[in-house]
Amino acid sequence: MYQSFIGLEVHIHLLTRTKVFCRCRSAFGDEPNTNVCPVCLGYPGVLPTLNIEAMRMGCMVARSLNCTIPPQTWFERKQYFYPDMTKNYQISQFASPLGQQGCLVLEGRGTDGKQITKKVRIKECHLEEDAGKMIHTGTVSLLDYNRAGVSLLEIVTEPDMESGEEAELFIQTLRRMVRYLGVCDGNMEEGSLRADANVSINLPGKGLGKKVEIKNLNSSRFVRLGLNYEIRRQEEMLDAGKTVVQETRLWNENRDETFPMRQKENAQDYRYFPEPDLPVFCPDEPFLKSVENALVELPRDRTVRMIKEYGLSAEQAELICDEKTGADYFEAAAAEIKKQMEAKGEISGQAVRIANWFLSDIKHILNQKGMALKDIGSFALNPRRLAALAVMLGAGRITGKLAKQCMEIIAAEDRDPEEIVRANNWEQLADPAKIAEVVRTVFAAEKKTAAELRAIIAAASGVPGSEKRKKTLTAYLVGKVLAATGGRADPKIAGIQVEEML
Ligand code: ADP
Ligand code: ZN
Ligand code: MG
Repeated sequence: MYQSFIGLEVHIHLLTRTKVFCRCRSAFGDEPNTNVCPVCLGYPGVLPTLNIEAMRMGCMVARSLNCTIPPQTWFERKQYFYPDMTKNYQISQFASPLGQQGCLVLEGRGTDGKQITKKVRIKECHLEEDAGKMIHTGTVSLLDYNRAGVSLLEIVTEPDMESGEEAELFIQTLRRMVRYLGVCDGNMEEGSLRADANVSINLPGKGLGKKVEIKNLNSSRFVRLGLNYEIRRQEEMLDAGKTVVQETRLWNENRDETFPMRQKENAQDYRYFPEPDLPVFCPDEPFLKSVENALVELPRDRTVRMIKEYGLSAEQAELICDEKTGADYFEAAAAEIKKQMEAKGEISGQAVRIANWFLSDIKHILNQKGMALKDIGSFALNPRRLAALAVMLGAGRITGKLAKQCMEIIAAEDRDPEEIVRANNWEQLADPAKIAEVVRTVFAAEKKTAAELRAIIAAASGVPGSEKRKKTLTAYLVGKVLAATGGRADPKIAGIQVEEML
């Protein structure tokens, strides 16, 4: 009976080599306090310089979210005190975020199984520096400033979502997008992608309610659980005639509930003012061009295109498009097939075969080798070799079973499929004359069976049970022919040759 409003603030670590305002290395997991310098430690008198690569990656995300990049964008100081930030202010963007007014379309199934199709408006994307990390151990707190000054992009949505499931899908969709763009690894456990979730409820038609912010949700599942818990909590309060307090709460993952952290500051408390040590950034033509050139086809568009182009099922296409490296691998193999079949047009049959192989056999082999999809570039079973196997199978040169054996060998021994098939004499025998030769030797060895069969045929039809006996004996001889070729003979041709010999 209430309406819910959810807005997300998602922070992503950009994969720049160095921090956003100094040249310190930007990396997760290094020895604490080794990637620091006077700038990111906030010594007096030092000067920050903008890392253009961070600005470029930020703009790539902004453009992929259909945001506008303003002609001028600058930085502000956001003042507050906290031990993880030695300057006592964070350099951020307030009045001129690098990306403004975009949208992201959500499409997919929620965790509750319901179909979600929704356009979420993006309020803004802005670039800022991350703070250091506090590690609390019993009675002391330790500080690691390696993260201080790391490039952080904050993406803020309008309060357009209505359920924990929608917010979860938003995080998943955004995560896939930034991984596709190669600007963030999306690793939520390591904190490369963190979300704060804002939620309010109200009677229908009454607009937004008093919002509560849930901070630092480090998995998309916690985003869903935290929000759904919070919606229920607020509903119970309103039902009981109480009012919701505007505050910041934290998610307790052990108790599956939120608890209060602080009453929220507003913008005035931060005393924003323009950062005097950084010039206004005016993106010029070459910069904007480099942003556009770095954009990629996004997962949703790619899925739709692959269904059309290769005749894949929606489910196959979605699974293949889950990671860009996987989709790239598949499409490289499909392109190879086109090349190797010398533009005979119709490749969808082969493409579907490749898709099936990719989703079962190849994933299985990668797993066994302990390789991740992102390392597929160094996989011995490369797209060219996989395509060669598909083409051989399609032409009836090898059997499906041998094609799969071939994959294992290629992956283990880094060899070419043609060479493996030759070395093992795996080529399917389809030449009638060659098969006839084998049939002759089989007949010589199976004189009694052959004689009985010939007698049945000579007696013509009519004898009860003779037709069945004839079938059994013929099948027996064809089986012998197949066995004599190690299973390589084409069963159909073998059958015809046996009949002819009779
Ligand atoms: P603040 O100034 O408190 O940071 P913002 O206006 O910047 O608030 O919004 C922060 C986030 O909270 C945005 O994602 C926005 O969509 C969401 N939000 C704002 N007001 C509400 C509300 N009443 N209910 C739910 N979400 C809200
Ligand atoms: Zn530094
Ligand atoms: Mg805000």
